Amino acid sequence: MSKKNINLSSVKGTHDILPHEQFVWEKLRKGIRHVAEIYSFSRIDTPILENLDLFQRGVGEATDIVEKQMYTLTTKGGDKLVLRPEGTSAIARAYIQHGLSHMSQPLKVYYDGPFFRYEQPQAGRYRQFNQVGFEIIGGENDPIYDVQVMITALRLLESLKFKNISIHLNSIGCKACRAIYKKKLLNYYKNNKKEICKDCNRRMLDNPLRLLDCKDEHCEAVKKEAPSIIDDLCTPCRKHFKEVLEYAEELKLPYQIDPFIVRGLDYYNRTVFEFFVEIESADGEKTTSLALGGGGRYDYLFEILGHRNTPAIGMAFGMERIVEAIKACNINLLPRQKNKIFLIAIGIEAKKKGLSLIEEFAGSGINVSESIGKNSLGAQLKASDKEGASWALILGQKEVFKESVIIRDLKTGVQETVLLKKVVAEIKKRL
Ligand code: AMP
Repeated sequence: MSKKNINLSSVKGTHDILPHEQFVWEKLRKGIRHVAEIYSFSRIDTPILENLDLFQRGVGEATDIVEKQMYTLTTKGGDKLVLRPEGTSAIARAYIQHGLSHMSQPLKVYYDGPFFRYEQPQAGRYRQFNQVGFEIIGGENDPIYDVQVMITALRLLESLKFKNISIHLNSIGCKACRAIYKKKLLNYYKNNKKEICKDCNRRMLDNPLRLLDCKDEHCEAVKKEAPSIIDDLCTPCRKHFKEVLEYAEELKLPYQIDPFIVRGLDYYNRTVFEFFVEIESADGEKTTSLALGGGGRYDYLFEILGHRNTPAIGMAFGMERIVEAIKACNINLLPRQKNKIFLIAIGIEAKKKGLSLIEEFAGSGINVSESIGKNSLGAQLKASDKEGASWALILGQKEVFKESVIIRDLKTGVQETVLLKKVVAEIKKRL
């Protein structure tokens, strides 16, 4: 193939995270590790490849993810696999496979990593994206865990200096009360059939709760008057939701009840929620809400996968969304401190000495930048300027011969020659 034919763009819907963007991602990962530690979540990593039927069964056939968005492949051996589209089903699979119910319950785990959905790429929507998720599995079916997941997620956003955070909270009940509500909802939509979009007409047949998810402007108008599921919750579901609200009040969570939050996936029951941040336009005139993530209870998932009933609750944030929201909110997360010391070496012998010197500094916990691939003093000085270093250590032939090195203050230009064996101590004095 000639060079001309190689497509050098990243695959549609995927993106690179470049070196200068990494510090925000690193802050995010650090924030994740920090809250996970505070709230006792242990890390779990599951493979990117999973069996197709895990998601067909777990997430549900009548969901967008399974219907339209999965990257599926058949191996040479005939196995039907997918690039994981979400984390919860895979974690449930790992919990069952490894008998994690024998560990202290509930099991609190977190993960972050890439996920894949074949969606139409647009702002904040990719085909390969990263999610971070927190899950509390097993133990009692206690509403306190619902609130623990929410507080962990909230503290993560707060650690990243987000201010206007809101949690939209709802309960979608259990199989029994949801069935009654679905009938009511369908009756209401049947009377408004002509007003709603084609997709919603289909949703009426295969996933009526998703009617409340539609963002089409005609459907929005119909949705506004739709019956609310909260009115139809059975007594145990009502009690569960009431306790969630009481705990949320106690912790002063910034929540609001939103009967339109239903979450798309089959495995959810009772508590469901989504996290939003308010983003101001550049002129400060308008604010828009950006959805960063959400989750809910999934007490049925383990049964769906053929295991015994196991209560569980979890949530996931889109990491690209968080990074984009950090930019949109003008949050100033300080980048990595640049190195203050820059090594300049002219000639092969000086470069050899220079390499050892970098190691010696590293051993003392001091990072040294360099650009010793460049030959001239001028080019290396220019590079030290770009790095914003405070001091240059200059090694030329003469210095190598005399076992010394020049310390040059890059702000004032003042230079001093010191013995090589004393340079680390000299620099330590100045830092
Ligand atoms: P979900 O797993 O669909 O509940 O999504 C949880 C969060 O993951 C969303 O609120 C987004 O922040 C993020 N997310 C989901 N799908 C995508 C995507 N295609 N591209 C980027 N982020 C996504």
